[in-house]
Amino acid sequence: MAPEQSRASSSWAHPARILVADDEPRLLTTLVTLLQGRHFEVTGANGGHEACALLANQSFDLALLDLNMPGVDGYAVMDQLVTQQPDCGVIVVSGESSFSSVSRALRRGALDYIRKPFDPEELLNTVENVLGKQSLIKAHDLIQTRLEKSEALHRYIVNSSPDIVFMLDKNGHICFINNKVESLLGYQPAELRGEHFSYILDDRDVTRGTFALQGPDISADNPRTLEVRLKTRGSRKATRHFEITAFPVDPQTWPQTEETQVGHTHQPARYYGIARDVTERKEAEAFINFQAYHDLLTRLPNRALFKDRLELAITQARRSEQKLAVMFLDLDRFKVVNDTLGHAMGDRLLQAVTHRLEKCLRRGDTLSRFGGDEFTLLLPSIHSPDDARGIAKKLIHALKAPFQLGNHEVFVGASIGISVFPDAGDTMDQLIQNADIAMYHVKARGKDGYRFFSDSMSIDTAHRLSLERDLRLALERAELRVYYQPQVCSRTNQVVGLEALVRWQHPERGLLYPGDFLPLAEETRLIAKLSEQVLDQACRDVGHWINNGHPKLRLAVNLSPIQVEHPRFVEALLERVAAHRFPPRNLEIEITENVIMNDLEQISRKLKELADTGIRIAIDDFGTGYSSLNYLHRLPIHTLKVDQSFVKAIRSGEDGACIVNAIIAMAHGLKLEIVAEGVETGDQLSYLTNLGCHQVQGFFYGPARPAADIDQLLGRDGLAFAHTA
Ligand code: C2E
Ligand code: MG
Ligand code: MG
Repeated sequence: MAPEQSRASSSWAHPARILVADDEPRLLTTLVTLLQGRHFEVTGANGGHEACALLANQSFDLALLDLNMPGVDGYAVMDQLVTQQPDCGVIVVSGESSFSSVSRALRRGALDYIRKPFDPEELLNTVENVLGKQSLIKAHDLIQTRLEKSEALHRYIVNSSPDIVFMLDKNGHICFINNKVESLLGYQPAELRGEHFSYILDDRDVTRGTFALQGPDISADNPRTLEVRLKTRGSRKATRHFEITAFPVDPQTWPQTEETQVGHTHQPARYYGIARDVTERKEAEAFINFQAYHDLLTRLPNRALFKDRLELAITQARRSEQKLAVMFLDLDRFKVVNDTLGHAMGDRLLQAVTHRLEKCLRRGDTLSRFGGDEFTLLLPSIHSPDDARGIAKKLIHALKAPFQLGNHEVFVGASIGISVFPDAGDTMDQLIQNADIAMYHVKARGKDGYRFFSDSMSIDTAHRLSLERDLRLALERAELRVYYQPQVCSRTNQVVGLEALVRWQHPERGLLYPGDFLPLAEETRLIAKLSEQVLDQACRDVGHWINNGHPKLRLAVNLSPIQVEHPRFVEALLERVAAHRFPPRNLEIEITENVIMNDLEQISRKLKELADTGIRIAIDDFGTGYSSLNYLHRLPIHTLKVDQSFVKAIRSGEDGACIVNAIIAMAHGLKLEIVAEGVETGDQLSYLTNLGCHQVQGFFYGPARPAADIDQLLGRDGLAFAHTA
């Protein structure tokens, strides 16, 4: 009994406190003395009444109770003990040995029973024994409470984690998953236990997710992290992004036996992991990414993304020896809308334009907003330039119908430059730049149309820059020349007019034609200065001839769209004409249909002002632009110039000839003068004459020539000689 004794004693923080109750004073003293001999802290109670009084004030670890006591008996004391000191053990010491009294005592919670008279040794053994058992129970209860607290703490820690915490068996079945899965994905932990983890993986990530844990060197210190999408409960589509960190459980840190298996699977947990919801971060990243590569107004790819795609497309086209096309599209008249209706309307217009343009494209084409009202388009694989031509026509057509912006109906056109890889350049920058150059050529010709880049157009960037510098110098050094092409009345062979055509006497490159430098002049806005010089020179030359025998001689000058659109166009022109004392009635300005359509209202005001002073207005290249003929009787137009292409068609007997017929008939109907351009042969001339078109201009009567030549020609009474072709 010695080891039990010591164990029992050592479990108590103090000597065991024992209450002894007996109504027999002699026996009570014996018991007290006996127990005190074993160093217990003993209190004697003379009968049940005193015992109850003591119990109310002191606490005891053990009570030795006589059953039979007068007044308050042992059972009554036990009843009080149960309510007041439930931890106090009871040994019954009694002369009663009937089965019923013993069982009654034990039922009330007595731990043992000693019959009087007792053997002191036996009594002490029983006391030690009961105290030992009690201390074990106490220790067990203490550990149980601690365990429960610790369990609750860990459960709290795991379930309050902001992340999903889980454990998987070696096959990937979920052994454990914390409550977080409910708030994040909507599943009850219980319904997931036993399921394979791919049950909640998005289908797109199943393969990646399944292989993720199979690396050889994954451990708690070197966990595997991967981003996957997890499905939310009940909907197949809604997924959230998670960053999973997982590693195999180290059997040494957590040795598992069959009993420590968790959950419903028959396999022990093999992997530990946490899954962090990174959806918001992902969405923010996606937005930032979108913002970096898209234009937020139109939601189109921006310049950076366009360049990226173009670079890729070039590599592919090169590898597969295919062509690709880059288009540079600039809206005509956008600025007018933006300036007059405001930026909000401008924005709406851009969105509406985008919408229409997108409808013309195929999958794989990239339309991007390059900036302002400029768009670029990549057609990554085309068979021939005709494919690009088709798309360009479609785009232009798509923008033809008016746009309804609030109460306003606005028309915008598009000028499109096209560069085809590899002919128009084999690098990204070249292709974009050349498409841009081609686009400017469209603008310079009155906008609303498309053109392919060609080498003759221009010249590489360095060349362009030097040309621009040269042109600035040319304006300072007066290198520009004005040549005059006669407009002849075929009935009289008399020169009735002179069209001023600019030439550039370049110091190194010789005589340059407008096609070589006008686009650049427009682009760089040097056109204004250039036009001033041309007009000044022409007013001087033609003014001189008018004053010297040719009072009716007409001067025709070409005006660029940029000039006409300038707010001070009318004033500036009239000032110049007045400065030279040039008679306005002898001046005819040539503009193209597209200039008119660009902004009909403004133009009509300006033209009326000019016409009021006597200046005549001619429509150049008539029939080639897009226009509703509606404007013809609303504007003060005097002359139509039939475009060369229709005159050329006369020779080849194509349909163009019919167009000439129609134009001439219409001009007659509207009482407009008509001048046919590009007349090169006698056949063309007689065809035109038969239709009643008598004013002609073309190589048949001679090209544009310097003033000195014209001086001689006019000296011979202004009779032009036909040059037989
Ligand atoms: P445009 O006004 O249609 O001028 C007629 C063009 O046709 C001129 O070319 C002229 O030389 C050419 N041409 C005349 N007769 C014939 C012919 O029988 N056959 C052929 N194949 N061509 C003929 P040019 O001088 O090269 O001018 C080209 C364009 O440049 C002009 O077309 C005009 O739009 C523009 N331009 C010329 N000078 C000026 C100017 O001072 N200011 C502005 N803004 N534009 C100008
Ligand atoms: Mg002209
Ligand atoms: Mg013309």
